[in-house]
Amino acid sequence: MDAWDAMVVDEGAPARLQQLTEADLPEGDVTVAVRWSSLNFKDGLAVTGRGKVVQRTPMVCGIDLAGTVEESSSPDWQPGDEVVATGWGLSVTHPGGYTRRQRLPAEWLLARPDGLTLSQTMAIGTAGLTAMLCVLDLEDAGVEPGDAEVLVTGAGGGVGSVAVALLAALGHRVAASTGRPETHDALRALGATTIVDRAELSEPGTRPLEKERWAGAVDTVGSTTLAAVLRQTRYGGAVAACGLAGGADLPTTVLPFILRNVHLLGVDSVACPTPRRQEAWRRLAADLPTDALDSMTAVEPMTDLARLAEEILAGRVRGRVVVDVER
Ligand code: NDP
Repeated sequence: MDAWDAMVVDEGAPARLQQLTEADLPEGDVTVAVRWSSLNFKDGLAVTGRGKVVQRTPMVCGIDLAGTVEESSSPDWQPGDEVVATGWGLSVTHPGGYTRRQRLPAEWLLARPDGLTLSQTMAIGTAGLTAMLCVLDLEDAGVEPGDAEVLVTGAGGGVGSVAVALLAALGHRVAASTGRPETHDALRALGATTIVDRAELSEPGTRPLEKERWAGAVDTVGSTTLAAVLRQTRYGGAVAACGLAGGADLPTTVLPFILRNVHLLGVDSVACPTPRRQEAWRRLAADLPTDALDSMTAVEPMTDLARLAEEILAGRVRGRVVVDVER
């Protein structure tokens, strides 16, 4: 391939399609023919140039990629291997996945998990990996099916939709919080048994503790919503906090922690150590029903990314978007 399209952001401007050649490939020991990428909240920030995601320009956006190894100087990877990369420095310090070819460090790659196609790995992507990491942390904290309901906030989004489907498939009773009535049917189809209006959780609380409701929670929203979730979590319950769709602050008291033994678990997918990632991908392949994944996924062309980036930042994307880098 002599030249190919990539979605590149320059200083002070939104990303646009640009032609790259071999000379534009960065340092790295493995060159990948990228087939699919995905759209995450962080990609919305990078593509629009609005968030402080990209640390140097020009930068190929896209925090996820899946494809086939073309060349490798690493003994770990051979031409023809199908690989997946999410997070690490992609689209931050190192060119990312919105491109037909990319070169990257061997240790950022994982083999395509058995049981998932390359395109399904990108339907999962960073968002789905994060949902699984939250579920693993809740399990480690002792949240088991049969306890009270587990709440997912921002349930209509990418992390939220995968979390709902995973928790329901694992036998939990799932409450899904969303601000979009049009997602209710889809969330019920993924396995949610209770729908909570986003507004019920987003108001600043007047009391430091409220009626105990949740055995556990996956929170993608942060701010007053996370504070409300903590006030309503049952004695000994756990809350996995991974997002800031509603804000980066956390206006809480310590009372849920010191009077109800509530555990607040921080979840990061970007620099998550490889063994934990491998465990999460194994679990995703085993536990996430593929019909649920397919039902929450749209495939969109790379040429449409400028519009899609605006949509995800406005909270209008439902579920997950796979990006077809050949269109
Ligand atoms: P999406 O945009 O797909 O989902 C976010 C959802 O949050 C929206 O769909 C909406 O859900 C809800 N939401 C949006 N704005 C607000 C608001 N102002 N108040 C309350 N709820 C709101 O994004 P992702 O699922 O990709 O990411 C979700 C969050 O998780 C982001 O903050 C992202 O940065 C973070 N994240 C963190 C990772 C980590 O490693 N820690 C990795 C991946 C994501 P609804 O319409 O259903 O209410």
